[in-house]
Amino acid sequence: MGLMKLHEPRLTVLVGPTAVGKGTVVHSLLSRHPEIALSVSATTRAPRPGEINGTHYFFVSDDEFDRLVNDGQMLEWALVHGAHRYGTPRKPVEQWLSEGKSVLLEIDVAGARQVRASMPQAHFIFLAPPSWDELKRRLTERGTETLEEQERRLTTARAELDAAHEFDAIVINDDLDQAVTDLAVLMGLE
Ligand code: 5GP
Repeated sequence: MGLMKLHEPRLTVLVGPTAVGKGTVVHSLLSRHPEIALSVSATTRAPRPGEINGTHYFFVSDDEFDRLVNDGQMLEWALVHGAHRYGTPRKPVEQWLSEGKSVLLEIDVAGARQVRASMPQAHFIFLAPPSWDELKRRLTERGTETLEEQERRLTTARAELDAAHEFDAIVINDDLDQAVTDLAVLMGLE
């Protein structure tokens, strides 16, 4: 019998539909576990008020995004909500993994499938709402999107919920603290 490493450095991919509260869960997880390296995605969408380039996203033009993809600098990328492209820069992720860090990606289902194809040893977690009605309520209450955009996001959310069974684990975001604990345990941090 060999020794077992208790904290295997690993890549965790977190997926969840719009308005499930991913942002809040991830923020809370990172304040409890600042040792986690959170990947900052590149996107072609415009910043929302208060979003900082390089912190929330790297906000890039369509041409710049094309260049990143063509240069092989994206670990994965996808067109999300039929509107804008989002992708994970490859270099920082590889660097953090080589340093033995726990790395977290917060991406969509299509992106998660690409990561599974290239890094099958990664760990795939789905963050689900307590119910469909609760998801709709959270999206409406947030009020950051137009009605048309809300409809588009709900259509995507339906498809994402249908893919939940593809994941290694499902965490229900009912109680924030519990969801954060579940995630931390799944990541081998608690
Ligand atoms: P938002 O526009 O609300 O910031 O993000 C919309 C969706 O894009 C999120 O649900 C998130 O999962 C997805 N997303 C963010 N970054 C990435 C990424 O790097 N790759 C992929 N495939 N999806 C992403």
